Amino acid sequence: MVHWPSDPPVTIKRVKDMEGGDTANLSEISMGAHSGTHIDAPRHFIQQGQGVDKMPLDTMIGRARVVEVTDTKSIKPEELLQHRIRRGERILFKTRNSSHVWQTDEFVEDFVFISDEAALFLAERGVRLVGVDYLSVGSYKHGGSYVHRTLLSGGVWIIEGLNLSGVKAGKYDLICLPLKLDKGDGAPARAILKPVPAARAGESKE
Ligand SMILES: [Zn+2]
Repeated sequence: MVHWPSDPPVTIKRVKDMEGGDTANLSEISMGAHSGTHIDAPRHFIQQGQGVDKMPLDTMIGRARVVEVTDTKSIKPEELLQHRIRRGERILFKTRNSSHVWQTDEFVEDFVFISDEAALFLAERGVRLVGVDYLSVGSYKHGGSYVHRTLLSGGVWIIEGLNLSGVKAGKYDLICLPLKLDKGDGAPARAILKPVPAARAGESKE
């Protein structure tokens, strides 16, 4: 599967196989911690930052909003302003990435990313969580350190590698639980969205 060019590749190998006479099937997994859908912990870019094992679980469970971004280059504050993003929200950005990047195992270099200015906007706004639909919040070509550092030092947890191709903009209940890796800089996660019952959609609660 696709992975960040400078990260280790993903391999899953059957090391015990019932077809070969073993009593059970058993696989060996090798990959970078930032493969596929995954969480970035503060420790990814901040040496003394929290590890993924210290992530408050309620960060990744609760009401979330999928915001559709029309800009085909980057996510910018001008566009975010229209969406009235509030303190404490969980925001998942659906960009043009979702419609094509997951259809290939080749790394896509020119994916839509969060601009430096938008990262600052989101951190200052105090959102709880930001999710993006490719493998980094920051640009591949221009480097993503500033965006990562601004979000993570601002208390914003990050989900990367979401596939939102089948998801419409709107409110959902998010469940996204990463592996509890000791002092982990990140960890693979399974992320799901559940539709919010119409009667509850107006509530802004957890
Ligand atoms: Zn990451």
